[in-house]
Amino acid sequence: MNKEDLEKYEQSLLSLEKRLETEFAEIPDVPDFGDGHSDMQGEEADEAVAADESAGIKDEIRSRIEDVRSGLNKIKEGTYGICEACGKPIEKEILNIVPESRLCKEDKLQ
Ligand SMILES: [Zn+2]
Repeated sequence: MNKEDLEKYEQSLLSLEKRLETEFAEIPDVPDFGDGHSDMQGEEADEAVAADESAGIKDEIRSRIEDVRSGLNKIKEGTYGICEACGKPIEKEILNIVPESRLCKEDKLQ
């Protein structure tokens, strides 16, 4: 991969990392209760669902941040853009959309 492309992907990864970190920080750990406590039961159930949802979203963002940081490390190590499954170069059309991709098109579909 040429230097120009590497710089382009590095910039994409850096701005993606920043955006994901902001999104991660903005997700509250626990939902905020409203004023009324009349049917607490219902709210507790809602709370549990909301907490599950935000935990799931946080997990997703956390694993994307890991992929992004792994991509940035690979750029430093000179191994960026190589499929972790088959060792072939990852297609540019994939990296242009998902710069933190670890797998090529074929292995993504597996
Ligand atoms: Zn592959």
